[in-house]
Amino acid sequence: MKKYSTKDFDRDFPTDDACLEHLFHTKYPDGVSCKKCQKITKHHRIQGRPCYSCEYCGSHVYPMAETIFKDTRFDHLRLWFKAIAYMSVTRCGISSRQLSRDIGVTVKTGWRMWTVIRKTLSEGDGIKFVGQVEVDETYIGGKRHGKRGRGSENKTVVLGIVERKGRARGIIVPDVRAKTLVPAVEANVVKDATVVNNHQH
Ligand SMILES: [Zn+2]
Repeated sequence: MKKYSTKDFDRDFPTDDACLEHLFHTKYPDGVSCKKCQKITKHHRIQGRPCYSCEYCGSHVYPMAETIFKDTRFDHLRLWFKAIAYMSVTRCGISSRQLSRDIGVTVKTGWRMWTVIRKTLSEGDGIKFVGQVEVDETYIGGKRHGKRGRGSENKTVVLGIVERKGRARGIIVPDVRAKTLVPAVEANVVKDATVVNNHQH
């Protein structure tokens, strides 16, 4: 799997605004259903504020609400995205101190980010992945050998799902047969996403 680099991150998420835009589209892939208008309406970004406004009634929605960013300052959103990208790439194999150094925050802030992100990545945030998504099976408890679906006794399979723009999720599955993997992927990825399995060369 090609690693998601700092350069990729800077290109995809140059500013806090770009991160908010990504969050907006991830959270509302089919558009925002305005509570007041009771239908999906166009929403425009309110400049300088982390919210979008319904073009008909002016009601506001805050993409950061009800997410792990709910208590985060808007001007820290990009830092959080960066932390998520780093932790996704390493599958959380990075210490909180290393994370603090890598993204340039205090040990205390880094620890808080690390704890929240680790918990989220391992449990899943319930939001399906969008865009180009890569899936990959990893065996824990021994070297992978034999054919797919065989030779994997006594090993735990972790199905890794990585979104092109940074989110990652590890799901424990009993085996790597298609009838196991396909529903697991479908449960975590939106229908129109492009799914790339790294073992299908
Ligand atoms: Zn409205």
